[in-house]
This record gives sequence, C-alpha cells and structure tokens, in this order.
Amino acid sequence: MFCKNCGKQIEDGSKFCPECGESQYGHQPSEPDSVQAQKKLIYYGTLASLAGIIIGIYIKQIHIVVVSALGFMVGAFKINELRKR
Ligand SMILES: [Zn+2]
Repeated sequence: MFCKNCGKQIEDGSKFCPECGESQYGHQPSEPDSVQAQKKLIYYGTLASLAGIIIGIYIKQIHIVVVSALGFMVGAFKINELRKR
C-alpha cells in the first residue's frame, strides 16, 4: 500500500507511515490477521460443506446432504455478514 499523505510505499496494513507519521487508519482499512484467518476458515468450511452435499448426493446418503446443506447455509450467511463490514 501507499501512504495517503506522502505517497511513499509502506508495508501493507501499517497504521502509520514510517516516513511522515501520517495515520493510515480509515483510508485503506486493513484487516487484522485474526479476521483474515476467520474469513479463510469460513470460506474453506463452506467449500467443504458444498463438497459434502455433492458427495452425499453421489453416495445417496440423505443425512450427509442435509448436514452439509446446513453447514453451507451457515457458512454462506457468515460470508454475507463479513462482507457487510
Ligand atoms: Zn507518509
């Protein structure tokens, strides 16, 4: 990313520019690692649920389909929630 004040390239996610000291918060909102990790977890969980639905249908195990579909819905809902922020 670049400093919004002096335009110098600075480390991604920096709160302050090391060159001019300008606060970068609010201009280019960067997410803390924990939020990114949480997002990854939700995305992979949702993908895994989708795979579960397909596998459940393939092996004709309806309870696997139902459980996976529930997991997928929860995952999709959480992704939606994260996108609102
Ligand atoms: Zn700067």
